Amino acid sequence: DKIHYADITISAVSPSQYPDDGIPEIVLAGRSNVGKSSFINTMVNRKNLARTSGKPGKTRTLNFFNIENELFFVDVPGYGYAQVSNAEQEKWGVMMNEYFATREELVLGVLLVDFRHEPTNLDIQMYEFFKYFNIPVLVVATKSDKIKKSKHNKHTSMIKKALKLESEDTFYPFSSVTKEGRKEIWNEILAYTRN
Ligand code: GDP
Repeated sequence: DKIHYADITISAVSPSQYPDDGIPEIVLAGRSNVGKSSFINTMVNRKNLARTSGKPGKTRTLNFFNIENELFFVDVPGYGYAQVSNAEQEKWGVMMNEYFATREELVLGVLLVDFRHEPTNLDIQMYEFFKYFNIPVLVVATKSDKIKKSKHNKHTSMIKKALKLESEDTFYPFSSVTKEGRKEIWNEILAYTRN
């Protein structure tokens, strides 16, 4: 449960810069502000490993976080900023395709969505993008502390239905405030990386 070592290894803009350790990778995707940085920090018990709420559109890199020399969290730039140009979006797409199409180390996709809301079209596209590349998906529904327990089932169904979540994929509510889901998500991740 305790994480002793977690550090950013590289912010890569091209495949030649990806790490060559051969250790498994978990890619993390979600729209900007969904709580992805908070998720990373909570999972590894760090306050500031991933920067929370940095400038939108600024990070156009894949950030590889080495966790215990056992796996990488690969943080991809958040999507869905209004102010990002078509050229920027195009670059994002190229970078994502390069990574997803060729990366053998990639064992699991984590898609972060906001537990409070219907997934956006971009969330659905991201889910389909994972499925297109045959990557199993773990959906993390963030900010669960903002939803009453009595409404959890309703929101869970809403999100699974909108994404058309397949049976091999998994879903967990998560909160970086209460740490709900942290343990279950670690178990799920380790089931993929330790195989
Ligand atoms: P990112 O842009 O996806 O990296 O999102 P951040 O991690 O920076 O979070 C965006 C905002 O949501 C910040 O104001 C966080 O404090 C807040 N936030 C993130 N996770 C949670 C959570 O689990 N519960 C609550 N209540 N707020 C959260």
